[in-house]
Amino acid sequence: MSVTSARGPDFGFPEDSAFGLETCADTASLLARERPAEPVYCVYPEIYREQAAAFVAGFPGHVLYAVKANDHPAVIRLLNQGGVTHFDCASLAEIEQVRGLCPDAHCYFMIPVRPRGAARSAFENFGVRHFVIDHTAGLDLLADQVPLEEVVVFTRMAVSHEAALQNLSTKFGAPPESVPGLMEAVADRGAEAALAFNVGSSVTRPEAYEYAMEVAQTVLNRLPFRVRLVDVGGGFPRSYPGFRVPPLEDYFDSIRNMSARLPLADDGAILAEPGRALAAPGLSAVVEVLLRKDDRLYLNDGMFGIFWELRFKGHDRYPVRVFRDGSSHSGDTRQFSLYGPTCDSTDVLPGRVPLPADIRPGDHLEFGSLGAYSLAGRTRFNGFYSERVVLLTAPDARPPGQAN
Ligand SMILES: *Cc1c(COP(=O)(O)O)cnc(C)c1O
Repeated sequence: MSVTSARGPDFGFPEDSAFGLETCADTASLLARERPAEPVYCVYPEIYREQAAAFVAGFPGHVLYAVKANDHPAVIRLLNQGGVTHFDCASLAEIEQVRGLCPDAHCYFMIPVRPRGAARSAFENFGVRHFVIDHTAGLDLLADQVPLEEVVVFTRMAVSHEAALQNLSTKFGAPPESVPGLMEAVADRGAEAALAFNVGSSVTRPEAYEYAMEVAQTVLNRLPFRVRLVDVGGGFPRSYPGFRVPPLEDYFDSIRNMSARLPLADDGAILAEPGRALAAPGLSAVVEVLLRKDDRLYLNDGMFGIFWELRFKGHDRYPVRVFRDGSSHSGDTRQFSLYGPTCDSTDVLPGRVPLPADIRPGDHLEFGSLGAYSLAGRTRFNGFYSERVVLLTAPDARPPGQAN
């Protein structure tokens, strides 16, 4: 039986609020009804709305969602419903996607290198007024495309800190000592000059932002004018099993305290570009155990699929729960190694995962906190690629790792 029968008014969930997705009450009822042979990706709408609302309420400034973390239309619309109206985009395709989904969206084109014509099209067709450069060469290219007097140009400064697990300043960003000169050049050419930086991704301690904002303070103090906008970038982390990070409030407090020290214009504001923190919580993956060899489990999704982010430095597993014949299954656990479905030997998840010792083929595992850098980066390698995304409609549905 197909879960599409669960769509519509029968379940008190109007069809148009499902973003065109198949719906089901929760993962238990999905698995009680059928045994999906392909991976199923489950969207928890309330979790996305709550997380967006909490971030927007807690962050001391404007929140731009970094679309690259998860550009699924339902995710973008749910974050927008939760109060996110600004979006950090890196391509015309992302801008077009966001504007098509959220009429009230303001898109920022926050990458210092763009295909020819992209900045012009963003400006003319999508009302984009915020761009970024990290070199005078990029300022010249931007000036060819958009009228500088009508836009804000951020200068991206390179900063890094050992608390960040991925350094986002090795490819882009101008050294701090050259930033005042670049910002003056931006202002001289008629644009509003602003400052941006990215501390890194999965920033494990708030001190990294404090450090970067101290550098920003030094840079801004050397300018003959005051700027309105300082963008502290993304990097707000999420806790995963074996990878505990401080609560977001600690990061917000640090940024709030430091921003008071920045010499901003009277109408000054801080911006942030969270990707992971907004995208991660509300998505799970339901996968099936295909084969068990002692303590090795072979799953129908893996490192070339939904788990691809685990190849990078950071967390090495996700919260998980087990279903057998549609019911939650638990028991004494042991450690398992998890393998993906492809022929490639590297298709193995890095962390060992505690699961019920009697786990067997046909059992389903639901992995939670899986919304960031998962759907967006999958490949079709070896022919494994599930298109199935289901919206869960039970208001109290909670993914693994997020108790009610
Ligand atoms: C990737 C990226 C982000 C989002 O990073 P997270 O670690 O997911 O918060 C924000 N800004 C820029 C410029 C990025 O490249």
